[in-house]
Amino acid sequence: DCRSTHVFVVMGASGDLAKKKIYPTLWWLYRDNLLPSSTFFLGYARSSIEIKDFLNQKCRQYMKIKPDEEQRFQEFLEKNFYLTGSYDKSESFVQLDLKIVEIAKLGKCENVEDANRIFYLALPPSVYTSVTKLLSQNSKARKPHFTRVIVEKPFGKDLKSSNELSAHLSTLFTEEEIYRIDHYLGKEMVQNLIVLRFANQIFKRIWNRDSIECVMITFKEPFGTQGRGGYFDEFGIIRDVMQNHLLQILSLIAMDSPVSKNAEEIRNEKVKVLRTIPELKMSDVIIGQYVGNPNGQGDEKMGYLDDPTVPAGSTTPTFCCAVLKIKNERWDGVPFILKSGKALNERKAEIRIQFKEVPGDIFDNTCARNELVIRVQPDEAVYMKISTKKPGMNFDPVETELDLTYKHRYEGEYMPDAYERLILDVFLGSQINFVRTDELAEAWRIFTPLLHQLEQQKPKPIPYVYGSRGVPDADELCTRVGKYNYSNTYVWKDSSKS
Ligand code: NAP
Ligand code: NAP
Repeated sequence: DCRSTHVFVVMGASGDLAKKKIYPTLWWLYRDNLLPSSTFFLGYARSSIEIKDFLNQKCRQYMKIKPDEEQRFQEFLEKNFYLTGSYDKSESFVQLDLKIVEIAKLGKCENVEDANRIFYLALPPSVYTSVTKLLSQNSKARKPHFTRVIVEKPFGKDLKSSNELSAHLSTLFTEEEIYRIDHYLGKEMVQNLIVLRFANQIFKRIWNRDSIECVMITFKEPFGTQGRGGYFDEFGIIRDVMQNHLLQILSLIAMDSPVSKNAEEIRNEKVKVLRTIPELKMSDVIIGQYVGNPNGQGDEKMGYLDDPTVPAGSTTPTFCCAVLKIKNERWDGVPFILKSGKALNERKAEIRIQFKEVPGDIFDNTCARNELVIRVQPDEAVYMKISTKKPGMNFDPVETELDLTYKHRYEGEYMPDAYERLILDVFLGSQINFVRTDELAEAWRIFTPLLHQLEQQKPKPIPYVYGSRGVPDADELCTRVGKYNYSNTYVWKDSSKS
């Protein structure tokens, strides 16, 4: 049943991302028989590597191989190849081309002249321009085979640098060939947003300014930079999380109904809503930076500036709360709060849709607002906070929830990792969950003036303590500008523990 072999090329195969993410993901996809029947893997980097040893010794710890999978793993090893080469010499990329052609001949497919080629660029941005150019000149597949290129963040540092990179890529590859990864788009709950929104009549009708008071999208991490602050300091939390992951979630929450499930139709709607968001202003933002907790344990004692890799006196934010506006018919006047931070009290990513108060209330203002919570991680869940009659001899409303907790409802269900879904999508040619060029430019447009202002004026971020909920002023911003109401009355009874 095989027309063409697929060769998946890991550019920068000796690196961290390849070792921890890409090779383990390729193994899981191979193990579960999800890849096209004739698929080979080719690592490429300057280091001289014995690929089977590398996979066995360096990657194995990330691969979760069960004892009864050893034979399958040996088969996987046999599908792996490696080529040493430079990032800036044509000859190396000609060699790469020849190597792929050689591998194509090993496949038991109808067409052995060439293979479909997927290049994963797991490389530092410094070599991106030269690698992409040389790839396109020397290593593209011959028709009718396809070439697809997977690109990792950072996609530039601001609108200008990102546009330059996009312009460079677009001279070398078509939009259909470019797959920009935002791994949040591979998460179960983020992918579920389209189904929840467009497959439920109850949500379709209330998903607008008439019923919704505000939306909050939160990302929290319970650890700091852990000695990798040098890398983080160049980017900060806004570039690291907000401009990409949280804005992607926002666009899926806020977009209008697409014409179909088709990738272009969905991406058209995402771009359309992003275009209606005005640039962020300083007055809509609170920034913070964590300081050590003298009473904490180990790392908690370390503030951001105590990380030896962080430049002294850095004003890079490790926490940010921003309120975005959407100037369209559906959302005008509904604040979208984006909140993210490192070294906070918990690990979570979630979406809160808070509804308006009940008009003509007959319960003397004792009802809390309805709130739909979609928890992306950890422990996927969707719950809707509603009021119910307090059971017993009274007529008082009390807060409760309609609850869908995945680990109970879908017990034992295999939940693939985000990278698994996304890499498989590349094999299948599905671009729904990848960032299109115009979408990326819109995302940078919204954040760039703020980022520049922060870099030029260097306002001092507000300190917050490692392990806290972040900057208290953010709660004030969420209430005043974001219209978010924290009821402080909701009590969660975890029925799985009773
Ligand atoms: P890395 O380990 O620093 O680099 C990958 C490989 O690139 C290295 O093994 C090295 O291989 C080669 N390389 C070429 N020029 C280099 C240079 N000037 N300095 C260091 N290495 C150079 O990077 P990575 O962490 O795997 O990340 C790859 C890309 O993915 C980056 O764009 C990064 O921003 C992005 N990313 C990484 C992660 C992650 O978890 N690591 C997460 C999200 C995004 P040879 O020397 O053998 O040629
Ligand atoms: P909540 O207690 O009403 O809190 C809502 C959010 O308000 C919090 O997540 C917190 O987010 C923020 N907050 C906390 N203190 C605040 C303050 N002083 N001022 C302003 N904002 C404040 O409701 P919940 O968080 O939705 O639920 C409570 C607990 O029940 C959570 O642990 C939740 O995971 C659990 N629960 C689980 C399920 C399930 O597993 N299916 C279902 C329902 C509830 P930030 O700290 O991020 O700002």
